[in-house]
Amino acid sequence: MNGIVYLVGSGPGGLGLLTFRAREVIDSADVILYDQLPGDEILATLPASAEKINCGKFGGSHTMKQEEIESLMVERAHQGKRVVRLKGGDPFVFGRGGEEMEVLREQNIDVEVVPGITSAVAVPECSGIPVTHRSHASQVTFLTGHEDPTKEESAIDWEWLARSPGTIVILMGVKNLDLITASLMKHGMPGIKPVAIIERGFRQDQRVTIGSLSDITEKARATGVAPPAIIVIGDVVSLYRDGSEGAWSRKNTNQ
Ligand code: SAH
Repeated sequence: MNGIVYLVGSGPGGLGLLTFRAREVIDSADVILYDQLPGDEILATLPASAEKINCGKFGGSHTMKQEEIESLMVERAHQGKRVVRLKGGDPFVFGRGGEEMEVLREQNIDVEVVPGITSAVAVPECSGIPVTHRSHASQVTFLTGHEDPTKEESAIDWEWLARSPGTIVILMGVKNLDLITASLMKHGMPGIKPVAIIERGFRQDQRVTIGSLSDITEKARATGVAPPAIIVIGDVVSLYRDGSEGAWSRKNTNQ
């Protein structure tokens, strides 16, 4: 008898942005495989009755290999368990949820995807930066900054990106920030283009660093910017105002 696997997005952080459906499947789970990204507030509410497995993927350091995670999910589902795979944000936005769905399908295991609010939109939003705006951006591109832009076979077209209008939102980009900004400028994006980096969105210690394409790397180095962080490049960044995020508290702003 096969169980079922729920690929669940936790939202960008905090219980307020966890969906009802996510809460429901978490609370009735036999097994929960989780990452650190959902954050302490949510992880503290995982049911005591469930077997909880920390897959601990964070800032590029993997404590459990993707194949191990997948085989654990498959194994527990084959035991007839209700398995929750809990991920930060949305499970299908740079979360490897798509790959996990494929593996589960191959094994004829039932899968339900529970969408989550992605950090790619919500984290800029919580600091008062809309990713689209009628006067500033009619297009938005989401990309992973995990990839070294100088490598020959890049899956990202940096030349196209540098010339494209609208907003660029980069996830997992802190480590390669210098390469990303240099690559965009090399391909013609002006150095004065506004950039925001929002670290630890929706957490008590959320911090925003504002700069331009030409000086953001220096600023980020000076203030020790660290993952998890969202990088926003584009004219919408000009809408940022210190304190504009309302309910979401931010202790430090580097402007
Ligand atoms: N599936 C997730 C993204 C996973 S990739 C989603 O939809 O949000 C991990 C990256 O997401 C991090 O490196 C960071 O760039 C971003 N991220 C996720 N949560 C974040 C948060 N609360 N604050 C800042 N960045 C966050």
